[in-house]
Amino acid sequence: MRTSQFPLSTVKETPADAEIASHKLMIRAGLIRKIAAGVYTWLPLGLRVLRKVEQITREEMNKAGALEVLMPALQPAELWRETGRWEKYGPELARMQDRHAREFCLGPTHEEIITDLARNELKSYKQLPITYYQIQTKFRDEIRPRFGVMRSREFVMKDAYSFHLDQDSLQQTYAVMYQAYTNIFNRFGLKFRAVIADSGAIGGAVSHEFHVLADSGEDAIAFSDTSGYAANVEKAELHRTPLNRATYTQEKVLTETPGKKTIAEVGEFLGVSPDKILKTLIVVSRFIDAGTGESRNSYCMLLLRGDHELNEIKLQKIIGDFDFAKEEEIEDLMHCRPGYIGPITAEAFPGRIIADYSVENLSDFVCGANQAGFHYTGVNWGRDWNLMDEWLHDIRQIVNGDPSPDGQGQITIARGIEVGHIFQLGDKYSAAMNAAIINEAGKNQIMLMGCYGIGISRVVAAAIEQGHDERGIIWPNELAPFQVAICPMNMHKSDRLIDTVEKIYRELLDAGIEVLLDDRKVRAGFMFSDMELIGIPHRIVIGDRGLDNGTVEYQGRTEHESREIPFADIVGFLK
Ligand code: ATP
Ligand code: MG
Ligand code: MG
Ligand code: MG
Repeated sequence: MRTSQFPLSTVKETPADAEIASHKLMIRAGLIRKIAAGVYTWLPLGLRVLRKVEQITREEMNKAGALEVLMPALQPAELWRETGRWEKYGPELARMQDRHAREFCLGPTHEEIITDLARNELKSYKQLPITYYQIQTKFRDEIRPRFGVMRSREFVMKDAYSFHLDQDSLQQTYAVMYQAYTNIFNRFGLKFRAVIADSGAIGGAVSHEFHVLADSGEDAIAFSDTSGYAANVEKAELHRTPLNRATYTQEKVLTETPGKKTIAEVGEFLGVSPDKILKTLIVVSRFIDAGTGESRNSYCMLLLRGDHELNEIKLQKIIGDFDFAKEEEIEDLMHCRPGYIGPITAEAFPGRIIADYSVENLSDFVCGANQAGFHYTGVNWGRDWNLMDEWLHDIRQIVNGDPSPDGQGQITIARGIEVGHIFQLGDKYSAAMNAAIINEAGKNQIMLMGCYGIGISRVVAAAIEQGHDERGIIWPNELAPFQVAICPMNMHKSDRLIDTVEKIYRELLDAGIEVLLDDRKVRAGFMFSDMELIGIPHRIVIGDRGLDNGTVEYQGRTEHESREIPFADIVGFLK
């Protein structure tokens, strides 16, 4: 490619709304242009990088045995009603009506569409397991679109969905996908960590996030390279508390407690709009029972609200407080006491949340306790809350150097950018939508599902966060829009220079190297700063002096000095 046919759209000015390096550089290097808040056009140079991210992802997904499909961006409300997400998803879901007043949304994710496809196309267990994927445009009406394509409203995602007969098969495919993701991020040439994660609004039990390490990352992750432990900070803090046991009790209570009451109903009772209720948290504290003077562990439930983003969530209400004499024993749940029900403010309770469960029926726990008929007496609420507050301060944050939960190493805390997220969904969607196949026994059986996302457009920004300096972008080789820039000195004044430049240009192209030949009539300094800004990894300069010596001047993007390389060696050197 020649700059005369591939005009660079570099600009000097940094946009006023750009807070982080990648956003500034993507505008300055002419990769993207803003159309509206969180909505961008990809220019030719940016699109070359985006396509590379897609291509590597596609190759590795194909290698892992996944089948490519292309699903629509426009999705009918009926399917979302089947899973209950039409009501639950909140304002991030862009809803609309067609001319016949039929309701649709712009897909933020595709569980409903793929599950509908699977229940229609898959008939027999012999067709399982199967994994479909697509690389497609998503729309999420983010409350605060920011950082350019890092958190945009319209973005490109690779999303994959797997279907299984049983949990073993789901786990096998999950492991294959985990490995495929590892291969993909390695091929991108990015530093990353896979961490245990919460499955959030998508649901399911097991989940990992893939984070590109960068100081500007919105998430904190905790890992220990010596022990292999890695989790996002929310999950890591959960691991260090006795609360992982509570997951089990919570499920038991759900199935064993009569008189179900949904969290939405409890929310209504407390005056919290049900569509704002996302999470129920359990917090453990120690408190002194004023009646007996004993110090005990107390579990307390908090109802939170937020807009589908953990960092937006504000502590809203406390809905119950329970005392476990022997926390190990599940039976003790039945001896818990219904406590205070009423509001507590974020100011009164600034402690960090240590556990979060995205379940809808955790309040069954409350009801069970209520029905058990126990009552608190004599408790000094002010004092006990203060104790809890203190305790929460104590456990507020995991910090560098903490022991890892497995005791095998020390925790490092780093900032990360979530670029991938994989989940074992179980039957959450397939049961709701009755996606069944005929099993070996000839019976109908609901399939199990996994889902696997990569933020394709976010990866481009994340790569720049990891690779840049004061002069511009530093692409890893695999993602660079071109590998080599040729900058001829005063080419237009010298026929013999033109011949040599054209020859080297051809040879590099023939060797399969992507070359950008700067044939503009501009000063050398101008060429260099453009090539550095757009981040081309290798630059060769050809001038009359080099012609006499039979050499070009080579300089790598991160090197500070150039060196001479003979014409005859340059292709071999760059290959
Ligand atoms: P985040 O926590 O950043 O909001 P998410 O957890 O909501 O992301 P997922 O539902 O897990 O996102 O979607 C899969 C991937 O899509 C994410 O890991 C991320 O890389 C990408 N992604 C999600 N939201 C956006 C966005 N607004 N802009 C760009 N990429 C996004
Ligand atoms: Mg999100
Ligand atoms: Mg997330
Ligand atoms: Mg996620």
